[in-house]
Amino acid sequence: MSNAAYDWLHQSLNTIHKAHWHRSVRSLAGKAAPVMTCEGQPVINFASNDYLGLAGDLRLAAAAIAAIQTYGTGSTGSRLLSGHRDLHRQLERAIANWKGTEDAIVFSSGYLANIGTISALVGSRDLIVADQYNHSSLISGANLSGATVQTYQHCDVADLQQQLEQQRSHHRRSLIVTDSVFSMDGDLCPLSEILDLADRYTCMVMVDEAHGTGILGATGSGAVELLGCRDRPLIQMGTLSKALGSLGGYVTGSATLIDYLRNRAPSWIYTTGLTPADTAAALAAIDIVQTEPQRRDRLWQNVQHLQRSLQSLIAESTTTALTSLLPSDSPILCIEVPDAATVMALGQRLTTAGFLVSAVRPPTVPTSRLRLTVMATHEPSHIQQLVGALSEIAIVELPA
Ligand SMILES: *Cc1c(COP(=O)(O)O)cnc(C)c1O
Repeated sequence: MSNAAYDWLHQSLNTIHKAHWHRSVRSLAGKAAPVMTCEGQPVINFASNDYLGLAGDLRLAAAAIAAIQTYGTGSTGSRLLSGHRDLHRQLERAIANWKGTEDAIVFSSGYLANIGTISALVGSRDLIVADQYNHSSLISGANLSGATVQTYQHCDVADLQQQLEQQRSHHRRSLIVTDSVFSMDGDLCPLSEILDLADRYTCMVMVDEAHGTGILGATGSGAVELLGCRDRPLIQMGTLSKALGSLGGYVTGSATLIDYLRNRAPSWIYTTGLTPADTAAALAAIDIVQTEPQRRDRLWQNVQHLQRSLQSLIAESTTTALTSLLPSDSPILCIEVPDAATVMALGQRLTTAGFLVSAVRPPTVPTSRLRLTVMATHEPSHIQQLVGALSEIAIVELPA
């Protein structure tokens, strides 16, 4: 495009390149699995959100195919017009039953669930108090809502209380928003303490279970279950696209909340309903999660295996490239490294060695890190190979 009105795009991209912030996609071939093919080369995948290995499960595929044969590929309209199917309702009932809540609503993605829900719940007269490490979709929702947004130090209940003490009385409604499992760190929010403060200061609480759904708690329903908070007033959000191997987002809570969202969340009202295939795949996944706890057992065995191996690798290694293993309560394990150049070099070397990992750097996160995600379907040998490769790669001198 040579029109002067678009020249700024080139300039802007140049700035992105100069800051080493430029991103691009790489194509993975084959069915979602621990081993896939990347540009012709086999890679062991430690960058997937498919924690239980359900995205490649034949039962989800069969459910999706059957739904397409019954309903067709598209849901053809927004849910309030022509896009609602009995399958959607079955999925919403299944989510509510699993979570022990009155009702649920499914959105076309987790991102849409967050922006639609937050902007429906609060407005310009209201206050949002948010953990500083919240997911991008929660931050977008908060900004879109027009509410006053205050952030508190990561997982710091004392700081949260101080913000509420100073700000709460100046606003009409208030919403505390937090990830349950933090997506770029892997640690858990102090939900019970947050709910205590919410009681005291009359705040709503919204918790994002994107990385908790399917893996945490006795029935795998999430961190809310693990932390014993199922019976407390709470707005729970999650995604169907991580451990559940499908696509879509959900919000679950009181029947009043869900009825309100059906009437007030624009990202649900004005978008096409979830496809029949995605809906059916998610339904099949929720059934498998509830009937096959052994998948979670395998996952946690693998998480412990990798966590222990990385701890001893970092403790024993002489390199300065691997600073520390961040504390984690989830299959998300992050190795902190000194700077962006180091993380990019390590990521590149791991790719060459046949491993898919995420090299994450500012501005996405405050400190550069290798982010590894574990799956129930990893073999112990996959984990051993990764740790072996890391120990060789990290001792080779890195670019200054
Ligand atoms: C992935 C993610 C989302 C968005 O979910 P999608 O279904 O992928 O749109 C929201 N919140 C958190 C914490 C996430 O990690």
